[in-house]
Amino acid sequence: MKYSELVELYERLDSTTKRLEKTYFLAKFLRETSADEIEPVILLVQGRVFPSYDEREIGVASKLVIKAINVASGTDSEKIENEWAKTGDLGKVAESLIKGKKQATLASSELTVKKVFDNLRNLTELTGQGSVDRKMQLIAELLSSAKGAEARYITRTILGQLRVGTGAGILRDAIAWAYFPKAVEKVFMKCGNCGKTVPQAESCVECGSHLGKEAKESKKAGKKAAATEKDAGAETSRDEYNTILDRIQEAYDLTNDFGVVARKAKTEGVKGLETVEIRLGTPIKVMLALKVETLEEAFETVGRPAQCEYKYDGFRLECHRKGDKIWLYTRRLENVTHQFPDVVEFLKKYVKGDNYILDSEAVGYDPKTKKYVPFQEISQRIKRKYDIEKTIEELPVEVNVFDILCYEGKNIVSQPFRKRREIIEKIVKSTERKIVVSKAIVTDKEAVVEKYFKEAKAAGTEGVMLKALDAPYQPGARVGYMLKFKKVMENLDLAIVAAEWGEGKRAKWLSSYYLACLDHGGKLLEIGKVSTGLKEKREEGLSFDEVTELLRPLIVEEIGRLVKVKPKIVLEVAYEEIQKSPTYGSGYALRFPRVIRNRSDEKGVSDINTLEDVERLYRTQKKSKG
Ligand code: AMP
Repeated sequence: MKYSELVELYERLDSTTKRLEKTYFLAKFLRETSADEIEPVILLVQGRVFPSYDEREIGVASKLVIKAINVASGTDSEKIENEWAKTGDLGKVAESLIKGKKQATLASSELTVKKVFDNLRNLTELTGQGSVDRKMQLIAELLSSAKGAEARYITRTILGQLRVGTGAGILRDAIAWAYFPKAVEKVFMKCGNCGKTVPQAESCVECGSHLGKEAKESKKAGKKAAATEKDAGAETSRDEYNTILDRIQEAYDLTNDFGVVARKAKTEGVKGLETVEIRLGTPIKVMLALKVETLEEAFETVGRPAQCEYKYDGFRLECHRKGDKIWLYTRRLENVTHQFPDVVEFLKKYVKGDNYILDSEAVGYDPKTKKYVPFQEISQRIKRKYDIEKTIEELPVEVNVFDILCYEGKNIVSQPFRKRREIIEKIVKSTERKIVVSKAIVTDKEAVVEKYFKEAKAAGTEGVMLKALDAPYQPGARVGYMLKFKKVMENLDLAIVAAEWGEGKRAKWLSSYYLACLDHGGKLLEIGKVSTGLKEKREEGLSFDEVTELLRPLIVEEIGRLVKVKPKIVLEVAYEEIQKSPTYGSGYALRFPRVIRNRSDEKGVSDINTLEDVERLYRTQKKSKG
């Protein structure tokens, strides 16, 4: 394939911001791309030459690109820099300078996608002496052969600035449009003029003929059918289309590579997507957890009984093993194998089998006390590229295995969780402060979970996870198969020391309140400002109106909209977190505070929470949160 064809696609993608139009252009292009060119094309439309999980990146500085433009165009670097400063787009600068040069030398050969792709990949391979010069030559070679807008897009790709707006959603939909036209046809409209299935819009994206009325009608018809459910056909068509999208997404979640997915879709259809295999060494998106506030809600979601596990405060580690080779990936699919040779050893020594993928949480612990430490304290291990041996001693980690996705080379994500758990219990030889199977119990009772929660907190973890015993492992999804339960912070009783008149319809009320706690000497120290939790109408609960009436006789000073009041009113306040803050006298601030109730009848100012309480809560929260 000629590179100019891909450039034509880039220009089309650049010419619209409409998602469906981008999808259409990309799909059309993919349909015409041969199976063996799909993978490079899909990477190049994302502005990459390796999939996102691959550590290799083009990584060339703009200085080197300028040098290459200089060699390819004969324009001196200073002029290139000046032009760049004027336009802000080195791609455009390269394009115009190289075009100017072209009239003189017409002999250069035509660029192919393969040539561009190979040269860009080769850029990442070069290291050591003379590599900078070699890199510059590889770029200059491409630019010298570039015609029309090619230099613009080559330059942008090298600098990581392609940005033609093809995110994951568009790629997924374009694969459906490209290879499953029958399912697409049933949901989208046909242009009366050119007969192509096109996105609904005022005019046809293909031939430009006016679609306005038809588009609206077809949209209306679709809505009506869905609303009345009379036209079961329309519903089924939608379902069929959505199923295709789901299959594509699932295949992507397993491979993290739209190139592989598109090739499978083109060559083997839905069957191909369904049989996409996990590849040991290629990271898979991890399953994510939903948050629950109460245990009733938790059991309702995962069913009874459920597995309740410690929620370790570390970082996610996906561990792959294929024969002697081991890979470790973070939740964001960064390869961190190099940073954790200790974990590689644990896997080799304490896990049976040599073709598997484990899901786990690595937690740091204090080398002396052996107690868990919050995530923050070991977070640097993820980035650390040198002195690794020393870091292992100073910041050791324990791997807590809680799931398995692949066993004996076989994909087992669709097996029920209880089966997967049996496997990890069988193959992981739990060895404390090295690698263990996550601590867990199976129960159907809230009270048991509460007790376990306390035990988990006492062990220095964040709380508990609740998991559905019969659920599959759903990569990349935040489904209710796995829940986190961290419990809310203890409420605080605080005194109102000042307030502000509201605005708009709240102008007649004092609608935000400055809260304070007590210090050791009995002085009041501000800790935040609250304005949520109160109602606008008295019959709905504690209202702004009521609190305004309580405060009005206590006003001692007015400064603009602010009033200072005698501290007498005590509110119970809930919040998400305590943060350090220079804004308030206490040195702390409450995150997302909300008023729970007025406690002035039971509590005087001398009974409110103290700075010591706040400090204690801040510390416990830090310990459990990380
Ligand atoms: P959060 O990061 O607050 O969304 O909580 C979910 C995270 O908790 C997961 O992504 C894991 O990294 C971590 N985690 C800790 N312990 C477990 C466990 N036993 N099972 C699953 N995830 C866990």
